[in-house]
Amino acid sequence: MDGKILIIGFGPGSFEHITVRAREAIQESQVIIGYNTYVDLIRDLLTHQDIVRTGMTEEVSRAQKAVDLALEGKVVAVISSGDAGVYGMAGLVYEVLIERGWHNGDNPSVEVVPGISAIHSCAALLGAPVMHDACTISLSDHLTPWSVIEKRIEAAAAADFVIALYNPKSGRRTRQIVETQRILLKYRHPKTPVGLVKSAYRDRQQVVRTTLEDMLNHDIGMLTTVLIGNASTFYHGDLMITPRGYQRKYTLDAVEQRLRPGERLRPENEPWSLNAITGESWRPANGREETTPVEATEKPLAREKSPREWADAALACLDGTGQAPPNNDAHMDASTRMPTSLAKILEVAVSPGVANKKFSPAQLMLLAELAGEEGELEYTTAHQLILRTHTEDPAHVVDCLRNAGFTVLPVGNVVKVKACDFCDGEKFDGIPCAEEISRRLAGLPVEKELRIGFNGCAMACYGAVNEDIGLVFRKGKFDLFLGGKTTGRNAAPGQRVAEGIPAEQMPDLLERIVNQYREHAFPGERFHKFFARVGQIEGFVHQEKPQVVVADTVCGG
Ligand code: SAH
Repeated sequence: MDGKILIIGFGPGSFEHITVRAREAIQESQVIIGYNTYVDLIRDLLTHQDIVRTGMTEEVSRAQKAVDLALEGKVVAVISSGDAGVYGMAGLVYEVLIERGWHNGDNPSVEVVPGISAIHSCAALLGAPVMHDACTISLSDHLTPWSVIEKRIEAAAAADFVIALYNPKSGRRTRQIVETQRILLKYRHPKTPVGLVKSAYRDRQQVVRTTLEDMLNHDIGMLTTVLIGNASTFYHGDLMITPRGYQRKYTLDAVEQRLRPGERLRPENEPWSLNAITGESWRPANGREETTPVEATEKPLAREKSPREWADAALACLDGTGQAPPNNDAHMDASTRMPTSLAKILEVAVSPGVANKKFSPAQLMLLAELAGEEGELEYTTAHQLILRTHTEDPAHVVDCLRNAGFTVLPVGNVVKVKACDFCDGEKFDGIPCAEEISRRLAGLPVEKELRIGFNGCAMACYGAVNEDIGLVFRKGKFDLFLGGKTTGRNAAPGQRVAEGIPAEQMPDLLERIVNQYREHAFPGERFHKFFARVGQIEGFVHQEKPQVVVADTVCGG
């Protein structure tokens, strides 16, 4: 009669977290083999099974016993906590079978039943600390030489993995966790969040939230899993969270920019991605086109090392072909001691003023200085330069810019006021109104970038009528255009909804229009679509554009 070995991971320890297949497999089996504590944990699920109990260190004899019984024709369950394939019994059982000349398909048959491993059960209790690339390292040097474990810690630390430490400490093994902390501190900030979870989902569960520098001041034992955050992991109250991507950019008011679904996975928005690193595609001009072939000289923000390069360097160390990772500060941000590749980037829009289009030499020098070697400046169609710079002190950068006479605004989906140069300041009547409008509205967050064009005379040579909202100042009064479609094959000027609006009424009226849009736009809805959908804004009624006449194509093409 053919026997069967069921290698079962029963999860962290509570019945709710045992899979249905694991329960069935326990029911199917005639014999249960496991470490005493584990057998006790699932005792209530046992009905008729014979129990072979063993001590903790008798793993090999447990595996041998399982194989012997299965060869006698028995259905044998070998149980592990968590997942049997993670520092569990699965590999060991296969090793014993292989030693006896067994091949897959031979008697006995083997089924590995997956379970929830400690990295996942402990993560769930802490919040969402794993989220991004993570690894598990067992600190037990019982079966693995410490010199190998040490290298793996070093590599994982350098590559900024979230790390789950299994078997961190036992009565006799106390030095490993101390040594591990020392290595991690070479690469990670002392305040890096660290979660200590003991006996997850068991009676004596204990969850401690601490930091890398403080973790050894708490109880750590054989039933603890230590979860070390990466450079982006943070605490929100008592939740330990690792963001899904490295949200590296932030703008005024320290608001991190949201990436909309359509913006994700583009190299320009996620410059750590493989594409961005290998340069297969590159930041398109003004972020409008999808991809443009890379120029050799164009690179994402210069960095010391990309995450991939860190990982490659770490792996090279493991196989002995690379140099030891740096443990000095050369690759570290001076203030945070984080790799500079992960330091935050401040991104702001800078212009010399609403009407003024001229930068002074001193202003240009300041911009160059603030951008530094690693930053960059990009000119845009919104009459702004975008400054991107590595900094941990954004307020200081913004102060410097404002003190130098710059207008500093957030980037992204905000209101942008783009005025003409008022014939180099000669036609100055409209300037105070343009400044007032800019002061009230520029930089306000909106669903989709909202461009307000302001032209100081009827020539409207800066193209205000082609913006989302156009204002043309004429003999002290305004013509108002709403709903221009600013880009695309079917780009079209806005609809002229009013003429002769008194200048003093304009800022209030415009504010009401913008507020309508801010309050009622659908997610991602551009102003011209919003206008068409709602039909009227502040009494201005939307009119359908004339239908396009499709010319007869002679050759049918
Ligand atoms: N196969 C198991 C791991 C066995 S190694 C799994 O996949 O989870 C034993 C180590 O696992 C312990 O030292 C501890 O670090 C971790 N561990 C297992 N169960 C745990 C639990 N309920 N709570 C916290 N850590 C646990």
